[in-house]
Amino acid sequence: MFLGLGANLGDPLAQLAAAVAGLRGAVEVDVVSSVFRTEPVGFREQPDFFNLVVAGSTRLEPGELLRAVQEVEARMGRVRTFRDAPRRIDVDVLAYGDLVIDTPELTVPHPRMAARGFVLHPLAEIAPDWRHPVSGKTARQLLAGAVGLERVERVGPLPGQPGT
Ligand code: AMP
Repeated sequence: MFLGLGANLGDPLAQLAAAVAGLRGAVEVDVVSSVFRTEPVGFREQPDFFNLVVAGSTRLEPGELLRAVQEVEARMGRVRTFRDAPRRIDVDVLAYGDLVIDTPELTVPHPRMAARGFVLHPLAEIAPDWRHPVSGKTARQLLAGAVGLERVERVGPLPGQPGT
């Protein structure tokens, strides 16, 4: 199971670290990728994003896992710097084993994962041979085949995590 985390407000590295810590309990975290920094695409008038991918396992069913990660987002989103500030952390369920799920609440593998540099770079770092259950391509192949991705720069290990 892979989760994708991103933050671009406040202290993004601290929020990523807090979110990874917050996931423990719901998720047994096996590997945490390096942090990657991405220029915002689309709405450019906002700070750079910091992203990472977590590999782990869970006893939760996919729907329960989604609710658990949304709880982490909600808990952290309450720490606001100003009214209506966007959430400080985004957690996506990227993949859950070989499951293919397409319901209104949950699409797995995450529909945008194969086209997002900020997902593919950290995923290919920690699980280059993982295969997308629909396309059959490995993370390494997806990254190599995805030309024209947004610029992504490796920052380094998440503070408090062993180096990768
Ligand atoms: P976002 O605002 O990008 O975090 O999107 C959250 C919404 O996406 C929620 O309403 C979820 O039900 C839905 N969603 C669908 N598939 C996924 C997924 N794989 N991971 C996280 N959220 C998902």
